[in-house]
Amino acid sequence: MNYISTRNKSVRCTSAQAIVNGLAQDGGLFVPEVFPQLTQRDWDALLEMDYPERAAYVLAMYLEDFSYEELLGYTRQAYGRFDSEDPCPLVNVDENIYVLELWHGPTCAFKDMALTMLPHLLSAARAKTGEKERTMILVATSGDTGKAALEGFCDVEGTDIIVFYPTGGVSDMQKLQMMTQKGANVYVCAIRGNFDDAQSAVKRIFADSDIASKLQNAGYKLSSANSINWGRLAPQIAYYVSSYCDLINAGKIRIGDKVNFCVPSGNFGNILAAYYAGKMGVGLNRLICASNVNHVLTDFFETGVYDTNREFFKTMSPSMDILISSNLERLLFEICGRDDRLIAARMNELKTKGSYRIDPSESEALRELFAVGYAEEADTQGTIEGYFDEYDYLIDTHTAVACSVYDQYADETGDYDTPTVIVSTASAYKFPCDVYRALSGKEIVDAFEATRELETLTDTQAPDPLRGLDQREVRFADVIDKEQIDETILRYVAK
Ligand SMILES: *Cc1c(COP(=O)(O)O)cnc(C)c1O
Repeated sequence: MNYISTRNKSVRCTSAQAIVNGLAQDGGLFVPEVFPQLTQRDWDALLEMDYPERAAYVLAMYLEDFSYEELLGYTRQAYGRFDSEDPCPLVNVDENIYVLELWHGPTCAFKDMALTMLPHLLSAARAKTGEKERTMILVATSGDTGKAALEGFCDVEGTDIIVFYPTGGVSDMQKLQMMTQKGANVYVCAIRGNFDDAQSAVKRIFADSDIASKLQNAGYKLSSANSINWGRLAPQIAYYVSSYCDLINAGKIRIGDKVNFCVPSGNFGNILAAYYAGKMGVGLNRLICASNVNHVLTDFFETGVYDTNREFFKTMSPSMDILISSNLERLLFEICGRDDRLIAARMNELKTKGSYRIDPSESEALRELFAVGYAEEADTQGTIEGYFDEYDYLIDTHTAVACSVYDQYADETGDYDTPTVIVSTASAYKFPCDVYRALSGKEIVDAFEATRELETLTDTQAPDPLRGLDQREVRFADVIDKEQIDETILRYVAK
């Protein structure tokens, strides 16, 4: 199966090339030419499997340059690093409400599901396409992605990773997570400024042919761990298929029955993977797209206008504070009947005007499958408290957005009966101050103190990767100006 660009269908490549290149040359995103279909035989096999086997099975249907055995080697390594035997347990919290916990990986957020796999896929894809250089991953991060990428690429053969974070705008917990990172192939450095400064500095490096040739001479090729890479999206399809299998095995549904998935969304990658699972044969009633007060997606589904010209809010669910949801392009491509020219024109409008409008018939098609909603900050807080009181179940701020939007959905539609999987994207202990405040009404500024109080209050334990972070050795304390980014990279390469 080949991959095509959303902006030009005649651009065609293999799965390995799609992963190596990340983005198509015309700026479009790679999508599979056709969606593989799950047959009765596939279901029979999948139902018997553990998670690494299911993930390898689903990936093998998309990545034809990789064998099932090869992929199984990678999934066993990647998900062997998770803190539970089942890397993504499905927890039944109420009669028809299930929570899919995607945060048992090394950084306690759902990014781990894909970023523990991407390094294996990327270095194998490089070998398959005949590239001989080492892969140099550059990341500018506002927090979560940087740490997840560091953990994913740490000590992976043939790769190096450098992460730049801004001195302003990263939480103490996130900063410490990165400064104490282990591994012989990693480097972390703060850039004076805010996230935009760090991001634009890194973007400049990617566009700089002079530094590219210097790196090439040193035997390196630059690459990105960005969420639009197919190698990050594909592993996410697997957990939707797998949780559906879990519901079948639990006797809750039968093959073909419809379920709801409710997903706290930002860049639209996670919920898009659910949509793709549906294309393969997972029975879908509604995909519920949950946003916080940066509800550009809610408005888009309701009005047909995607408009980024609006105020940006910092919220308790920072990983969803996004105005441009890059992966939406892949959904639009399917909804408009794969009209690549139309997509190219709209994405150009987005770039020049910051907005675009889709046709009423497309909005209609979207509404058949998607439901949308958003949570105000007070809803998010109240939902954390509500879920703990009612179900004795602790959720983080992002998951709370999804739970809140699901509750609104059920009340508005009366659909209390369809089995619903709420996707939980982070451990509550990643946001201990906000979660503790929601439960106790008390304000604690220090994250480690809030962690201890939260443990006592809820009689739960913080995950190992977040414990004792304040006692770990700081390995990376460098701070640079954004003009020094070139020399910093070249110095790393020369060492
Ligand atoms: C990245 C992230 C999201 C948003 O996921 P998208 O794929 O960008 O929609 C939600 N919650 C958490 C905790 C995240 O880290």
